[in-house]
Amino acid sequence: MSYQIAIDGPAGAGKSTIAKIVAKKKEYIYVDTGAMYRAMAIHMLRNNIDPEDEDAVSNEAKNADISFGYVEGSQHVYLNGEDVTAYLRTEETGNMASTVSKYAYVRSRLVAIQQDFASKNNVVMDGRDIGTVVLSDADVKVYLTASSAVRAKRRYDELIAKGESADIEKIEADIIDRDRQDMTREVSPLKKADDAVEIDSSYMTIEEVSEAILALCR
Ligand code: C5P
Repeated sequence: MSYQIAIDGPAGAGKSTIAKIVAKKKEYIYVDTGAMYRAMAIHMLRNNIDPEDEDAVSNEAKNADISFGYVEGSQHVYLNGEDVTAYLRTEETGNMASTVSKYAYVRSRLVAIQQDFASKNNVVMDGRDIGTVVLSDADVKVYLTASSAVRAKRRYDELIAKGESADIEKIEADIIDRDRQDMTREVSPLKKADDAVEIDSSYMTIEEVSEAILALCR
């Protein structure tokens, strides 16, 4: 049996940073499921699909073959054979991903890929529905949160460090908006699984949070 660590939480809570550290320590594979929803979003953007039209999105999703693999230890995501990893992390893609991920057909396609991979590999998987749906029997489940102000500040610092301009109030408003959309959708909304351990990272360091999760594994 594979060992499964599930990490869910709202946008910008630090899931991927923490999941990568835990995966490295445990020598497990880190799976970023948001990247798959983002690849689906890119497909919809490229094909000018109205994200609010569920039939149109579901139909077009049939033409999106999404897969992932690892290049020197980092996850790459492929859309119909093209490596789209470099285009995944924009605000536009994130917002589009949040909109198209509310549809059952889109979710069922991606969840199947995630479950298949986790059944064959030891994983640290992060997303919104990992502990509740994708890996409902995961060995360790974490719900990682932080206040929206702290999450916006982290994102702001990241953009400034990259030399980009940023408006912290707009970032926080976008984060709150995306959380609301993810938490209120009908299919697999973001919520803490009953048996997940909640960690609020607002006033914790990266080391403290990863150590807390490694302690849960022990
Ligand atoms: O985690 P990330 O910000 O990359 O996710 C982008 C969007 O994809 C989320 O806002 C959410 O709507 C969706 N998502 C999801 N289920 C997952 C992972 C991501 O619905 N397991």
